[in-house]
Amino acid sequence: MTSEVKIKAGQPQVQKAPVKAEKKEMTVAFIGNPNCGKTTLFNAYTGANLKVANWPGVTVEKVEGAINAHGYHIHLVDLPGTYSLTSYTMEEQVSRNFILSDDVDVIVDVIDASALERNLYLTLQLLELGKPVVVALNMMDIVEKRGMEIDLHRLPEMLGVPVIPVSALKRRGLSVLLHAAVHHKDHVHPDRLIHNHSDHTHHQHNHHSEFAMVYSDAMEDRIDAVRQLLHDKYPDLYNHRWHALKLIERDPEITAKYPVDDVHHVLDRSYETDIITEKYAFIEEIIHEVVVNQASKAAATDSVDRYLTDKWLGIPIFLAIMAIVFFLTFFIGDMVQDSFQGSIDTLSALAEGGLTSLGADDMLISLVCDGIIAGVGGILTFLPNICILFFALAILEDSGYMSRVAYVMNDIMNRLGLSGRAFIPMILGFGCSVPAIMASRALEDKRDRYRTMLVTPFISCSARLPIYILFSGMFFPHNAMIVAYSMYLIGIVVALAALKAMNLFSHEKKENDLLIELPEYKRPSAHTVYVYVWEKIKDYLSRAGTVIFAASILMWFILNFGPAGYGDMADSFGAIIGKAIVPFFAPIGLGYWQICLALIAGISAKEVVVSSFAVLFDGVNINSPAALAALASMMSQGGFTQLNAYCMMLFSLLYIPCAATIATIHAESHSWKWTAFSVCFQIAVAWVLTFVVYQIGSRIF
Ligand code: GDP
Ligand code: MG
Repeated sequence: MTSEVKIKAGQPQVQKAPVKAEKKEMTVAFIGNPNCGKTTLFNAYTGANLKVANWPGVTVEKVEGAINAHGYHIHLVDLPGTYSLTSYTMEEQVSRNFILSDDVDVIVDVIDASALERNLYLTLQLLELGKPVVVALNMMDIVEKRGMEIDLHRLPEMLGVPVIPVSALKRRGLSVLLHAAVHHKDHVHPDRLIHNHSDHTHHQHNHHSEFAMVYSDAMEDRIDAVRQLLHDKYPDLYNHRWHALKLIERDPEITAKYPVDDVHHVLDRSYETDIITEKYAFIEEIIHEVVVNQASKAAATDSVDRYLTDKWLGIPIFLAIMAIVFFLTFFIGDMVQDSFQGSIDTLSALAEGGLTSLGADDMLISLVCDGIIAGVGGILTFLPNICILFFALAILEDSGYMSRVAYVMNDIMNRLGLSGRAFIPMILGFGCSVPAIMASRALEDKRDRYRTMLVTPFISCSARLPIYILFSGMFFPHNAMIVAYSMYLIGIVVALAALKAMNLFSHEKKENDLLIELPEYKRPSAHTVYVYVWEKIKDYLSRAGTVIFAASILMWFILNFGPAGYGDMADSFGAIIGKAIVPFFAPIGLGYWQICLALIAGISAKEVVVSSFAVLFDGVNINSPAALAALASMMSQGGFTQLNAYCMMLFSLLYIPCAATIATIHAESHSWKWTAFSVCFQIAVAWVLTFVVYQIGSRIF
């Protein structure tokens, strides 16, 4: 999902007398801690609709857009969040490499003004890069609301760079920020740097006019010594001070790239912790001078979190919230669906009438009515359910609740040998497995990452919802919701159990701690929720128009043509294929060729299981309770009972999610071997579990 956002914000302005001969282009990169509002800022400028969420680890890939302003064609880049420039998760590497490259003209350091202390750590590192930096002091609306005050005059003096107060959400200060970025393009040297040290700190070095961050004398001596070594050996290097610092910290990448002979024996050990400590000492100084009214964290957040992140209550509350979500999905979805009930029949009748009067032959009429309208139309009617599901997920995400879930799952995840952060991709999996698998990049440990990728598809994504609605509605009319909810629970349990099994076989045991911070709760933004739901609806519609459309037509063809040409479904190619794979599915209670065929077709996209079903049963209207009841009783006579239906849902839940997910697994792992392994793994787990359920179930019932 490396979206190239191209925005039409007016034509490039004509430059009458270009000052420089080259084209007036520049690149501005947004960097900052996770959750500080970079993506919101990016969207505000570009009009893009990238996913914004009130929890860390969502943007994992850099995204570019462009606007025209102040006579420049400005490329804006939204980077994954990072706490420092020395970390090594994949998302943080993306940010670091890009920031270090020559492609960036101005770095806009987005900081969450309500959490200044934590955010400034990255700021100090960015200032040391010796590149033009502008600070965007974001979330000013929150700061004001809480009565916190920040000295906007003193802060830039201490940092030596412009500090622009903004609110990305309320779109305040945006043009000033852009203006500052453009005008700061070639400013590498800090302006107005004023230190007011108290008397007890004497510095023998005169670095205070040059750098915001000045270390202790001992450290500055060391930096100067290494800087000299670097200067002698690599005269062309662009920022000797920064490289010297990295050598002193023993940064593996820089140490390998620019080795020096340590003639003064100053690099006797890694001084990373000393440097961190000194940075934090300076941050404390800044906070002391700049923050006038240190407002306490919103009290509401603490009191709510006492329950939501409670050791015992946390997980039951999460399960209850999910139950409510699915109840709404079913209940409201059902109400809306009633109005759809007749429309498919009407549409089908209209099409049939129209085509007949035009003199179309039976074959075409069947293709349109029993193939396309039944398949695509059937899927479209689940749109209300899908909307509600995403609406609920958007609210849970934007309010900040989802990071609490990762937090309360931390203990369990640790016991399974993973960090609590590994649960985040799984939560995303309730929406769609594709972004969920991509989110596994936020995990530091490669092993964690692969394990998470392997089990994330077990989490029930939105595309599986139509299958549950259809089968639970048909065979469990009185308990449809509970049956469907059980699928969601089973998905989570299987994912966790698979992790547990992998951990048993692994010899390497390690300590894990939680690297997720808890953002404050806030009222979900209507715009964010709207964008979230709308993007998902577009996704769903485009799948209906492409994959599901094509699959319905293909399905119709293989069901209506056979070796003998157009004719009876029982002799069609579809029947032949389906019957060939029946032996594989028979032991798990799915030994019906129609079911087998639908499951195979479902690999293209999970909804196709349902659309194929509609085509298979000759354009049955899957919105009409009467038609479904008739179909269910017909299937029951063929021996397909509630148990078989449950097995059908279970297998659909667990077997390979869809072609797009497989492609994502490959893109993320760069390995066909791994991709093949995970596909086989998922099929094996699905088969074995369904086998157990069917075999035990058929002995009991
Ligand atoms: P990113 O991780 O840095 O890309 O952060 P996002 O852009 O995804 O935003 C994180 C959360 O902060 C979202 O819930 C946003 O709606 C919210 N947010 C971003 N900017 C502001 C702001 O200026 N004010 C307020 N109140 N919320 C903001
Ligand atoms: Mg982001």
